[in-house]
This record gives sequence, structure tokens and C-alpha cells, in this order.
Amino acid sequence: MAVELVAFDLDGTIFDGGVIAPECVEAIVRLAEAGVRCVVNSGRSTDFQVELLAEYDLLPHFTALIGDERWIHLVDAGADDVELRSLEPWNTDVRNSWTELDPVAEDWARRVQQEAEQRAWPGRLSSRADSRRRGLWSVALDSADHARDLAIWLEPQLAGGPVAGNANGTIVHLYDAARDKGTSLLALAERLGLRAGEVLAFGDGFNDRPMLDGRHGFAAATIANADESVKRWVRDAGGPVAERISGLGVADVLATVFPSLRSTTSS
Ligand SMILES: [Mg+2]
Repeated sequence: MAVELVAFDLDGTIFDGGVIAPECVEAIVRLAEAGVRCVVNSGRSTDFQVELLAEYDLLPHFTALIGDERWIHLVDAGADDVELRSLEPWNTDVRNSWTELDPVAEDWARRVQQEAEQRAWPGRLSSRADSRRRGLWSVALDSADHARDLAIWLEPQLAGGPVAGNANGTIVHLYDAARDKGTSLLALAERLGLRAGEVLAFGDGFNDRPMLDGRHGFAAATIANADESVKRWVRDAGGPVAERISGLGVADVLATVFPSLRSTTSS
């Protein structure tokens, strides 16, 4: 099945060390010009994504942005400006569902903070206003290993419940189990009239699992700097692990998946 939509995680995947590699920028532009739709699927806010992509003149090349892993906006690129359109009723459903789950997630976030304290790891809880706005509670740790250990500690306790947890870098997130990177991407694909098999997802971290482990039928790919567990999920789903890191690895995989888009200047 041909790939019609490519989803990119930001941090560690196409955005690393504060930059998007020029090879990756070029690959995305070529992809979009060939009519393949592109979406950012990141834990970063939509506002952050807009600013970052605008810096690289990439925003008009994206079909949609998924902010905080769940708010979906379609990008309407006109001749002079770019406008974002809320995907409805998805975003309203996400908001309504979160209004109910927010106190449950807050309770779990406080338990994570207590568990961190018992392990002598300082953990900073997100503010209530921030949690409402983003649709998730977070506990920020000092180390990515600590965040991962706490996410692993949480997993069996939350299994099957309405709230899920993951680790995104040094932060543990508590969120609506029905709205993660995987279900958000699936909702976008359905809105675009695409099947899951026409979607290719790139990610590098624990929180990318729902779009990388094959549960929804997306094609998946990752890069040399990804977590070892992420590489395993992608390999098990039949996807490639690039030999180079972050944006360079992404560009390499895109050149393999879309040979006709290869730059004439690259070797
Ligand atoms: Mg990442």
C-alpha cells in the first residue's frame, strides 16, 4: 500500500539539538511537493509547532499538526498566509472527555510525584491551568531514566483504565487513554479518507509507542538515536531503523520509501 501520510515526532526525531537538519527539511519539502501529506505528531503544543515550522518555511508543507499528542488542527495554506482549522468534532470530544478525566489524572499525577519522592527523585507537578489547557497532567523529573522507570511503574496500575501514562523525555504524562499519538493519528487519517496502512509514522521515544508498535496498522520507522525498546517495536512491526540519527535518519528512510524523491545532488 502506498504511503499517503507521513507523521513526524519532533523532539529527538526531526528536531534535535535545537535544529531540524537541512537534509530533513529538504526531504519534507520534496515529499509535500509530490503530494504526500505530512503531519507533526508531538507532545509539544500546537503554538510551539507553528513557530518552529515557520522558522524553516515548512508550515505550508504540512497538512495538519497534532499538538500535545491530541489536539488536531488542519493547516490551510493560502497564497499569503497560513490558517489553522480545528478538527471537529474530534477536538471538542477530546475536551469533553478530559473534563471528566482531569481529576482522576490529577490524582494519578500526585501518586507519581509521591512515588518519585520515595525514590528520592524530585518531581514537579504541572499547574491545574496548564493541565486543563493541554489535556494532560505532567510530572517533570530530572532524568529521562527516572521518567521512564515511573512510566513503567505506572503501566500495570493504569492498564485497562480510562487514564494512561507515558514518559516523554524527562516528563511523565497522565492523559486520556483513548487519546494518544496513535488514536489521534488514526482520527486524522480517517478524516483524510486514508487507511492505516497508508500512514508512515516516525518516532524515537516511549510516548511514540501507540503510533509505532503496529497496533493500528501504521507503517513505522525510527532512527539510530531512538530508545532500544522503540527500535524493537518498530522492527517487530516490520519497519526500518535508520543508521543515522534524528533528521538525517528520517531523510534516509524517506529516500528509501520514496526513491523518486531522492535529491539529484545527494550521493
Ligand atoms: Mg521524541
